[in-house]
Amino acid sequence: MKVLVLNCGSSSLKYQLFDMSDESVLAKGLVERIGIEGARIKHVKTGMEPVVSDLPIPNHKKAVEFVLERLLDAQCGVLSSLDELSAAGHRIVHGGDRFASSVRVDAEVVKGIEDVVPLAPLHNPANLTGIKAMIEVLPQLPQVAVFDTAFHQTMPPKAFVYGVPYRYYSEHKIRRYGFHGTSTSYVANRAAEMLGRPIESLKMVTCHLGNGSSITAVDGGRSVDTSLGFGTIPGILMGTRCGDVDPVVILSIMEEEGLDPKEMSHILHKESGVFGISGISSDLRDIEEAAAKGNERAQLALDMLVYHIKRYIGAYAAAMGGLDAVVFTAGIGENGIQIRDAVCRDLEFLGAKFAPEKNKVRGEEQLISADDSRVALMVVPTNEELVIARDTVRLTAAE
Ligand code: AMP
Repeated sequence: MKVLVLNCGSSSLKYQLFDMSDESVLAKGLVERIGIEGARIKHVKTGMEPVVSDLPIPNHKKAVEFVLERLLDAQCGVLSSLDELSAAGHRIVHGGDRFASSVRVDAEVVKGIEDVVPLAPLHNPANLTGIKAMIEVLPQLPQVAVFDTAFHQTMPPKAFVYGVPYRYYSEHKIRRYGFHGTSTSYVANRAAEMLGRPIESLKMVTCHLGNGSSITAVDGGRSVDTSLGFGTIPGILMGTRCGDVDPVVILSIMEEEGLDPKEMSHILHKESGVFGISGISSDLRDIEEAAAKGNERAQLALDMLVYHIKRYIGAYAAAMGGLDAVVFTAGIGENGIQIRDAVCRDLEFLGAKFAPEKNKVRGEEQLISADDSRVALMVVPTNEELVIARDTVRLTAAE
């Protein structure tokens, strides 16, 4: 079975073609600047040099057509006919409280994703363009939608209801939804496999640390709490997002500077976090470099990030009443040796004995706790595309 996985943004389309007989990636690529001047498609057939083409790409339908053209190309292609394609899987950011798992796409599902647009006004419409483009170009191809929020639908109300008047939840669906669910589900399951233990028996804290970050309490394979919420701001300090702040701070800044909600939203999403604290960059590598040269605000940003991660690990261990593993993933989690070191060094009181000599890895699966540690500390590179491809097979293979 060959499965095409698509991740559509408002002006971009990322894709991977999987051969699911052995879960290998045959080709992948990125279409950028769709509908904007300077559009380009970068296509990589596994084992070959990337092929980059600059050409006008007015909309997502055209982008999908170009992707299929590349997949069929005599030199850089991997398919001899589109009939070899069995299904397509799509990453959808928000499934609201309607989608608690992946689903086969039909007209009702498209409507369901549209209904959730108010909860993710930037992402869901962009994700839908991919589904609609595929329906236009290959109407017979089965399609599956995989939601970033779905994994967190197992949270109990005590974790997802906010302490504002209940009607905001019951009438307006304002609650914690959580994100990065596809990644979290992958790394939690993979960590259990690596430990050779059933996931049902494990209490884990997963740390998805990237430009956007979330920490999740995974009890018996189910999300029971997560640090992102109704939106993608709360939790730990991120690249440009502030993480948890006292809501009064927001009200006070708005009042003081006469800001409207849109201006305040920009500050919280784009001018805060590691970037806002350091005044240097949102990229952790730049911050580590500046801190090493003695920049105090860069050091403060690092200290805050480490402190926030530890605070959540402790809180979630208490919330689950135990801890068996802490899992690090995404850009910083997989590559940030220094951050992992600073987080893991003082966790012995929780039963986690860090092994610094094992922590020298970037982007590789690795146990970084001592052999006699009761709690496993682990690096598990994420693979959201593979989860989407697997769900796509699961929901379409019967045909
Ligand atoms: P992501 O959003 O998952 O792509 O992660 C992006 C973040 O990962 C950025 O803050 C990068 O600075 C960080 N990152 C990538 N490589 C490294 C590295 N070698 N050391 C520290 N941080 C890294």
